[in-house]
Amino acid sequence: MKGEILIGRDVEQDLSLDADVVIVGSGAGGAVVACELARAGQRVVVLETGSRYTPEQYGAMRPTESMRHLWQDGGLTFAMGLGDTPVINVMMGKCVGGSSVLTGAVCFRTPGSVLEHWSRTLRIEGVDERAMEPYFEGVERRVHVQEVPASMRSKSTTLFARGAEEVLGQPLKPLRRNTDGCNGCGRCNFGCPHGAKMSVDVTYLADALEAGATLVSEAEVERIVIKSGRAVGVVGRLKNGKHGKKRGALDVRARRVVVACNAFHSPLLLRRSGLGGQSGQIGKNLTLHPGFRVMARFDELVKGWQGALQSMYTDALEADGITMVGLFVPPGVLGATMPGVGPTHVARAKQIPHMAVFGGMLHDEAGGRVHDIFGFPQMTYRMARRDRATVPKLMRVMAKIFFAAGAREVILPVLGVGGVTPDRLRTLDLENVPGHMLECGSQHPLGTCRMGDSPQHSVVQSSGESWEVRDLYVADGSVLPTSLGVNPQLSIMAMAQRIATGMRDRPLPS
Ligand SMILES: Cc1cc2nc3c(=O)[nH]c(=O)nc-3n(C[C@H](O)[C@H](O)[C@H](O)COP(=O)(O)OP(=O)(O)OC[C@H]3O[C@@H](n4cnc5c(N)ncnc54)[C@H](O)[C@@H]3O)c2cc1C
Ligand code: SF4
Repeated sequence: MKGEILIGRDVEQDLSLDADVVIVGSGAGGAVVACELARAGQRVVVLETGSRYTPEQYGAMRPTESMRHLWQDGGLTFAMGLGDTPVINVMMGKCVGGSSVLTGAVCFRTPGSVLEHWSRTLRIEGVDERAMEPYFEGVERRVHVQEVPASMRSKSTTLFARGAEEVLGQPLKPLRRNTDGCNGCGRCNFGCPHGAKMSVDVTYLADALEAGATLVSEAEVERIVIKSGRAVGVVGRLKNGKHGKKRGALDVRARRVVVACNAFHSPLLLRRSGLGGQSGQIGKNLTLHPGFRVMARFDELVKGWQGALQSMYTDALEADGITMVGLFVPPGVLGATMPGVGPTHVARAKQIPHMAVFGGMLHDEAGGRVHDIFGFPQMTYRMARRDRATVPKLMRVMAKIFFAAGAREVILPVLGVGGVTPDRLRTLDLENVPGHMLECGSQHPLGTCRMGDSPQHSVVQSSGESWEVRDLYVADGSVLPTSLGVNPQLSIMAMAQRIATGMRDRPLPS
């Protein structure tokens, strides 16, 4: 039996549905749960506040158009830096498929050391490497995780690789990505026009629909309905008012509720529904993997947009909490982020064909929090002392790598500094650059409804079920108890698969 897709704006009045399981959020976590439970014969309804676009539709959008339609706040969500912490631009998706639609397709399993910490130190059951293996395997099979072939490496990446081997004394490693038929066109972050990126809108959600699930887009959940200590449904609004404003009432009665709105929205939904008294942990423990982009200018032509944007990485500095992952940004967007104004900026933008780019991110400690400001989520983040002290090392090492590869100058993520030569790097006091001068971004908010072994220190149990309310589960990036040091989509999907498998095997409440 095929499921149904309802678009909020096309529903004339109110919408009232019955389900076995209602899932709030259609991103990496929610889609995996929807698929597993729909295939098990349960009546599943998925609610998504964003709109639904097909690969043909988002593939035809200009990058700025895609940001307006598919990204949370048009890509302008920020975590306010506290103390000597930079303001951090936190990017997320807001569409059917969630942030999964916007990924660079990079796939890492949760590192063994992180799983060991979760299972031994945090005493979370069933998350050690052996227990997680089948979930990773299943997800990797479905989203077609494969190593990026050497032939697809961009020149931007091969130059960095050359320098890295000299400076770090070891070669870069190939990345794995969830793609099938990728032609290296470089549009991944705006939605893959070729349907080659195996994001959840074209994999798990399509499977869930095939198995009979109902998907409602432009449907924003405002509260979980709780009766006698049990979650029994959700209420919210459809975006069927004038200009897509919220109007019609939305009400789904269900035997189980799954919250999968991501680490930014899930804690607020729980709090708005009256949860939070028990542990006081909801919305706390936010980790971001703060990321820094270093650009370098070469004499030779680089044309970094040719080939896969992300194909190699190195964890040689993992002991320092640094992972370096290849990236490139479409020239139009890269141009907008280059230093200078007026003619200086024009001159810089003309150098784009000679520019190489690489990214470095921190395996951070939990320094952030999601607050409820008049009903809207707002993040604050204070970098742990160790993480903050690592930033100068990250920038210096990456600059040295580019110079070793023959770069003429590097552009560090430090505002107002401009291009830096090897001589200037030696005298630059990076250790004393104030936080507000650093350019920092994140695509990986995690941890705000963390999983744990006690209701005093965590929000959900190892099964994903809330400690406070029965039949209420959380299955997205917010449950990961610590940061990972690597891109998180595979970890989120494998954890969601594990939570869904447990739900499937537990009889539905009557
Ligand atoms: C630009 C970008 C690039 C990235 N690249 C990579 C990469 O290469 N590799 C990698 O591993 N990770 C990458 N990530 C991160 C990865 O996409 C996310 O970690 C992952 O998708 C998060 O999954 P999630 O289920 O927690 O939330 P999401 O996928 O963000 O899904 C949550 C969904 O819930 C919806 N929602 C929120 N509130 C409500 C509500 N009240 N009612 C209804 N719906 C609601 C949101 O609109 C959203 O669609 C990237 C992210 C971005 C933004
Ligand atoms: S590079 Fe590959 S995965 Fe990315 S948008 Fe192009 S075809 Fe799709």
